[in-house]
Amino acid sequence: MTASVPDPHTPAAPATDDQTRHPSRSGPLDTAQDQLRSAVRLLGYDEGMHAMLATPRRELHVAVPLRRDDGSVQVLAGYRVQHNISRGPGKGGLRYAPGVDIDEVRALAMWMTWKCAVVDLPYGGAKGGVAIDPRGYSTAELERVTRRYTSELMPVIGPERDIMAPDIGTTEQTMSWVMDTYSVNTGFTTPGVVTGKPLAVGGSLGRATATSRGVVHAAEAALADAGTGLPEVTCAVQGFGKVGSHAARFLADGGARVVAVSDENGGVYAADGLDLAALQRHVAETSSVQGFPQADPIGNDELLGLDVDVLVPAAVENVLDADSARRVKARWVVEGANGPTTSEGDRVLAERGITVVPDILANAGGVVVSYFEWVQANQAYWWSEVEIAEKLAQRMRTAYQAVATRARADGITLRDAALVIGVSRVAEAHQLRGLYP
Ligand code: GLU
Repeated sequence: MTASVPDPHTPAAPATDDQTRHPSRSGPLDTAQDQLRSAVRLLGYDEGMHAMLATPRRELHVAVPLRRDDGSVQVLAGYRVQHNISRGPGKGGLRYAPGVDIDEVRALAMWMTWKCAVVDLPYGGAKGGVAIDPRGYSTAELERVTRRYTSELMPVIGPERDIMAPDIGTTEQTMSWVMDTYSVNTGFTTPGVVTGKPLAVGGSLGRATATSRGVVHAAEAALADAGTGLPEVTCAVQGFGKVGSHAARFLADGGARVVAVSDENGGVYAADGLDLAALQRHVAETSSVQGFPQADPIGNDELLGLDVDVLVPAAVENVLDADSARRVKARWVVEGANGPTTSEGDRVLAERGITVVPDILANAGGVVVSYFEWVQANQAYWWSEVEIAEKLAQRMRTAYQAVATRARADGITLRDAALVIGVSRVAEAHQLRGLYP
């Protein structure tokens, strides 16, 4: 038996660590902290409140030992960050990706806090991650990783404590394993411990496509504000995974011309609009959009600078930095991914008059239907697909209108308006609950 140990992960930051400082390197946590700083300034909060909002309430670093199929042992680094639990239990996805580290998980957890507050869900924000490239592991290995990670997290998760959902690299099946591990250890079936589960074990109708539907509701609302609509626009979608692939399809269903999509290796372009059903079949056969015969190849960077009306970054963080933001020709950027725009990128887009519908609003549809799934699981009563679609559309429209109204009233960007709404709801909960002791 051989044991391979990856780079030791960053030790847990003590609760007193000043996480509001401006670190030298620019990663997702810098972006998230910059955004919070901006909201705190607009809201006129003092340093104490800023520190409360900036500091994760709890962080768990776990070693996840995995026995590989060949008998060797590998120890993976796992994390769960509960950024805030003032409005309710922690809520947020579980990410499996090779580059996952504590700072990325902290950023993603913070975004979940503001996101849940913007769409007025009774949740705080949390996120988990394991530093693993799931494509390099068998299903049995991924099951062992998930069960061990879950068992390490047992003391901090639960339907009233912290509820996981899929994110990059995890699936409905992953959630099923988390639910089963938790349930076996507690001694009873607890579907409310995760969302994004398969229907057969208490999942919700409409959850799998909810983030994408929400992205399209957000895009439609932003277009309507400018007196236009999907049938009048062209779109490019970066990312063809859980969010991007369905978003592209729903945009096209709404009448938009989707001219380009990409995955991590590159993209495809067709000036007259892509045949998304044919592209989906191609992806099912080859696992990539590349090589799709009815379109021209295009680079990921090139896609960001395409002459389209609506750009939907629906892949990973940090793709729109100052450089790429200068090349954006779209009039609207609708953020399907979490944190696709850096602080500098955001400034450039704002200066250039490009409307950014921010991630914490635009991609909130996923967690909205997660909330519906949790409510249904907790009351053991299930809603129809139509009911869920209507409730989701309603939540997204209400949240968009609140954000757009605030942006207009205060003369600020949609990003700042969404942050101001989300952050102030959390701060109000802090204030009302008071400081203990
Ligand atoms: N991972 C998704 C997100 O980033 C969904 C989170 C959830 O449903 O809890 O919003």
